[in-house]
Parts: sequence; structure tokens; C-alpha cells
Amino acid sequence: ALTDKLSRIVKEMRGQARITEGNVADMLREVRMALLEADVALPVVRDFIARVKDKALGQAVVGSLTPGQALVGVVNRELAATMGEVDESGALKGPADINLAAQPPAVILMAGLQGAGKTTTTAKLARHLITKRKKKVLTVSGDVYRPAAIEQLKTVTAQAGAEWFPSTPDQKPSDIARAALDYAKKHYFDVLLVDTAGRLAIDEALMKEIQDLHAILDPVETLFVVDAMQGQDAVNTAKAFKEALPLTGIVLTKMDGDSRGGAALSVRAVTGAPIKFAGVSEKIDGLEVFDAERHAGRVLGMGDIVALVEQVTANVDIEAAQKLAAKVKSGASFDLNDFLAQLQQMNQMGGLASLMDKLPGQLAAKAGQVDTAKVEKDMRRKQGIIHSMTPRERAKPELIKATRKRRIALGAGVQVQDVNRLLKEFEQMQDMMKKMKGGGLMKMMKRMGG
Ligand code: GDP
Ligand code: MG
Repeated sequence: ALTDKLSRIVKEMRGQARITEGNVADMLREVRMALLEADVALPVVRDFIARVKDKALGQAVVGSLTPGQALVGVVNRELAATMGEVDESGALKGPADINLAAQPPAVILMAGLQGAGKTTTTAKLARHLITKRKKKVLTVSGDVYRPAAIEQLKTVTAQAGAEWFPSTPDQKPSDIARAALDYAKKHYFDVLLVDTAGRLAIDEALMKEIQDLHAILDPVETLFVVDAMQGQDAVNTAKAFKEALPLTGIVLTKMDGDSRGGAALSVRAVTGAPIKFAGVSEKIDGLEVFDAERHAGRVLGMGDIVALVEQVTANVDIEAAQKLAAKVKSGASFDLNDFLAQLQQMNQMGGLASLMDKLPGQLAAKAGQVDTAKVEKDMRRKQGIIHSMTPRERAKPELIKATRKRRIALGAGVQVQDVNRLLKEFEQMQDMMKKMKGGGLMKMMKRMGG
């Protein structure tokens, strides 16, 4: 499969210090294929690859990553930045929730093709606003073309625990909108969710109708609901809705399907509106705040491996790791200072639990049996013991005999056995480091991965 090929290329090209035209050509070709396979629209892919190349070329390859792994890091960061929202410094901002900054009732207008998931999402949003934001929510349907559609909204609104404002197929959508708005004001609703009609394809009369609704309702959010399985077609739909309406956000539905979700990239690029939510099931609670970082791995088709590379490059103290690697390579001895540095690196990577979450398949299953809280507590205790040693003791652990052990145990608030256990473990680690030659955390992790 494509993804296997991508993974293989990622592992190749070891021992090169920089990302260059030469060493990434194959890799970029595979990334391009991966994006096309994920149904990202061609112009969006072209643009994206050009930006990645620009950012990646000349980048130093840190730690014991290969240029391929480093490039995956760049691709992933850029993917997340393209699908998510970044601040002035270019850093990814957290996922955006619904904006309710309006004189109540805050109106949310739902737009999108028929079958995109507007009615379902309306109810899911009602539920989200009730449970997470403690709002009083009213829904109304402007879909007068299909009697069943109004009934459908009534049913799902009841499931959400919100109130439904009645409408009938013989009314005009604009009249329904006015009546619902009036009712919401009189009864102090915080939010009015307006479900609308869709068509199977873009249709001028439909666009005119929803533009009228927009003018009457003056919504604080105009959400474009789009089916993630729609793939390439999503681009044209998004273009048409963007031209008709000032979209403030996107909801990508059916993300539980087997699509790789490339539509996210295209739709975000075409509309410029933030992706706010992802629909992940047909059920009322199947709505998640969109997380660009997590979605990037899915689009690339490399899931958690990407996350692992990311986390390691972002948080390992690169300099310390390199120093350590150099030291081991040169045959110098691995001392307690280095051991402490390793323990600290583990902490910086977000703790053991978060690291284990990112491990691939089989290894994760094994890791799942570990009591991470206990291990982390143990790691903190070990650090405490090393902190209670003098610099000389750390550099020359063989100095640590009975009296020193007692002093260290007292200082760290542990038993002498704990100090003994740490020293024993250190010796084993020292042994392993000697065998590994040029090790470091990445290598250790790879070894763990078999
Ligand atoms: P509308 O025509 O835009 O109002 O679309 P509907 O809300 O009626 O949804 C169309 C179909 O898609 C229904 O069968 C929904 O149950 C289904 N659906 C909507 N959102 C999701 C989702 O996130 N996941 C899954 N699996 N199905 C969804
Ligand atoms: Mg509907």
C-alpha cells in the first residue's frame, strides 16, 4: 500500500544531516500521492507541496531522526497549520468552539447540500451547547420541501433535550425564520439553530433562499456542513457556498467513514473558514471539536507514527540528546548525570502515559499493561535520589559506598534500598548504552519497538 511505501521511505536515508532537494524528492512524491489518495483537490496539493518544500529545504535533521522522519514532521506541522488556525507567530491555536458573542439569541445558520448532515448536526450542536456550555437552545427547520425533514428535526431535537419550534411545508422559509427568531427572543433562548433545505447539487434558487435567511437572521455563525466522504467534489460545493454566504465555520461530517478526510484540507483552503467540528457517528453525541493536529496524521495516512515523530522532535532536549550520543560514541562513560538527563527527557516528552499513547499497534498493546502512574512516580523518585548526590558522586558513581548511600537516602527521603535499586538500574543502563553505541532516546525507542 501507499502508506507502507511512505513509511519505508521515511526510514531510509539515514545519516544525512540536512533536508536537501536530493534526499526528499522521492519522499515528496509519496506525500503528494498520499494527499491525492486522501482526496485532497489537485490545486490544493500542488500549493501545499510547494510550501512544504520551501519550509523543509535546508532544515537540519535533529537527534537521530532520518531526513525522511524530519520531513514527516514538517509535512505534518504544515498540514495541521493548513487545516487548523495559527496565531501571529505561526503556532497552532487550539480548536475553535462555536462563537456565541451576540445579543441573545445567538443565531446559527446551517448550510450545505442535501444529505451533508445538516439536520443531524443541528441536533448534535444543540446537545453540545446544552451540555458543554449550559445554553438554552431552540431549533427550527426551514426545509419546507420535504415534510419528513421537519419531522426529522423534531425527533433529533427531542433527543438533544432542546426545544423545537414548529414549522410546516406550506410556510415560506423566511416567515418561519422571523417567527422562530421572535419566539426565541420572547422566551429568552440563548441560541437559535436554523436548519435549512439542501439540494443534491448547487442550485441558484436554493442559494437565493439561504441568502434571504441570512439577511433576516443576521447569524453569528454561518456553518457550512460538508460530508467528508464527498472527496474531490467538496471543493466545488464549498466554492459555491462561500460565494453565496459569509461562512464563519465548517463542520465535516461522516468522519467515521473510511475516507482519509482530505476534504478538510480542500474545504479549508477554498473557504478560508475554520473547521470547527467533526461528525463522527450518526448518534446525537457523535460530534467532536475539530483537532487539526490529530487529523493531519490521518490525512497523511501515517497516524500515530507521525504523532510520535512530532512529539519527539518537539520536546526532546535536542542538545542534551546529541551531547549524550556523542559521549557514548566516543566511548566515554555514561554517568549518573546522563542517567538524570534521560529521566528528564522522558518527562519533557509529556510523560510516559502520553508517549505510550503514541506508540504503534502491537507495542501499544504491550505498553497498555503498564501502570504509567506508578512508573512516573518511580521516575520522579529516581530523579530525587540523583539530585541528592554531589556532582562528584554523579560523575563517579563507584564512589557511592555505605555512608554516602545513607546520606543520599536521607536527603531524598527514601530508604537505602531505593538508592541501591537506582544504582543497580543505572549499571544496567550503562551496560546497555555501551552496547548501543551512539544511542539516545530515539534509538532506545526504536529498539523497544523491535
Ligand atoms: P441533511 O440532508 O444535510 O439534513 O443530512 P442529514 O442530517 O439528514 O444526514 C444524512 C444522513 O447522514 C443521515 O442518515 C445521518 O444519520 C447521516 N449522518 C450525518 N452525520 C453523520 C456522521 O457524522 N456520521 C455518520 N456515520 N452518519 C452521519
Ligand atoms: Mg435535513
